[in-house]
Amino acid sequence: MAFDGEPSFRQSVDLMFNRAVSVMDLSPGLEEKIRVCNSTYTVRFGVRLRGAIHTFTGYRSVHSEHMEPVKGGIRFATSVNQDEVEALAALMTYKCALVETPFGGSKGGLCIDPRDYEEHEMELITRRFAYELVKRDLINPAQNVPAPDMGTGEREMAWIVDQYKRMNTTDINGAACVTGKPLNAGGIAGRVEATGRGVQYALREFFRHPKDMEAAKLKGTLDGKRVIVQGLGNVGYHAALFLSSEDGCNITGIIERDGALVNPKGMSVQAVRDWLSEHGGVEGCPEGTYVADGAKVLEEECDILVPAALEGVINRANAGNIKAPLIIEAANGPITAGADEMLRVRGTVIIPDMYANAGGVTVSYFEWVKNLSHIRFGRMQRRQEEARHQILIDELERLSADKGLGWTLSPGFKDQYLRGAGELELVRSGLDDTMRAAYQSISELWKSRSDVSDMRMAAYIVAIDRVAKSYRSKGL
Ligand code: GLU
Repeated sequence: MAFDGEPSFRQSVDLMFNRAVSVMDLSPGLEEKIRVCNSTYTVRFGVRLRGAIHTFTGYRSVHSEHMEPVKGGIRFATSVNQDEVEALAALMTYKCALVETPFGGSKGGLCIDPRDYEEHEMELITRRFAYELVKRDLINPAQNVPAPDMGTGEREMAWIVDQYKRMNTTDINGAACVTGKPLNAGGIAGRVEATGRGVQYALREFFRHPKDMEAAKLKGTLDGKRVIVQGLGNVGYHAALFLSSEDGCNITGIIERDGALVNPKGMSVQAVRDWLSEHGGVEGCPEGTYVADGAKVLEEECDILVPAALEGVINRANAGNIKAPLIIEAANGPITAGADEMLRVRGTVIIPDMYANAGGVTVSYFEWVKNLSHIRFGRMQRRQEEARHQILIDELERLSADKGLGWTLSPGFKDQYLRGAGELELVRSGLDDTMRAAYQSISELWKSRSDVSDMRMAAYIVAIDRVAKSYRSKGL
């Protein structure tokens, strides 16, 4: 439970913003312009279901239009409210600036528990919500481009793009009105797992910076590190899966809605996920010992804590008990401003949300570009690249034969070298490059300025500075 007096999510974001601008040289007018949320549209609409009219409340908030389109997901959850949507829209502005995707910040939400409805009912509701937003240009390839968030995924994005196209039959760029679509509806390879991949790339980059590791008193590599993950949804599942199967991390704790599983030896993320899909909870899963009070597992010993579910889960009530020396915020806003301060004092290193979970919007950007260019990445170059590599292999083999050297290239090398990059390889390379560059901009500032005490503050400064430059160049 949060303490009384804990700031709201929106206030938390503002407090973190204020810390950053206190050491920046922004004119007060510009500071206020960047901080405020430009607009929030609230819609209430009715859908006839099961013989009665049901009324739903939805939001689309635009935080900053210094670049357009504005970008940010649509969340389906019962916790959705205006404060939350505005906080998330503000984070999108800073996130996009930090990873240099040319977008302003926006976010949407529908107050609903998707588990209460059948698939065809969800389609009616989603299409109706999309209709309300499309007709006000709050979904539009040039102005406002939603994406998945909590409670939404490819399925909802496919309905939204179809709804947009029905209402804009001659818009040749219609597919770019939303990202996170299935491949067959204009999506891009690697988008589903992009946020989890981004978390993995962020951690890999952290472990390439010895000074930053020292701040968290961590040594070595990711191999063997004990990781606790909260939330095995799209982001938490992929992050934990990649960290364990590709980097050698031990997933020692998994926290879900109904409780948690712990196992000091590490668990198979796939086995827990399969159990969860089948049983709706983690209780009884043989991968680990079940703990009914899941939130308590946030306080267990580990090397890396990955909150990948809701906002505010680490607050003033439990921050004092958190033992992890490194927290990576895979969710948006999992640490309140109050808890952030307490953790900072204790020396916990926090890789902040606006950076840590930016993999999703980064690959959304690639998808949007793909849709506008009407061609799959790699389609023109792939075979040409393979043909050029083949020339080199042929030449090496000819030299070896001519000179009687007896060289043979290992089949593994040949296969790997010969394969031209397809869309998935290019998406991963672009994502990795983006995550590395953004990390470096944060780390450099953090380490070079004595008045910048932590990575969150550094990330805000880098992002706000870019937004400010963009406003200034518009004459504001
Ligand atoms: N909802 C995701 C986020 O919070 C993705 C947004 C997007 O791809 O536009 O970053």
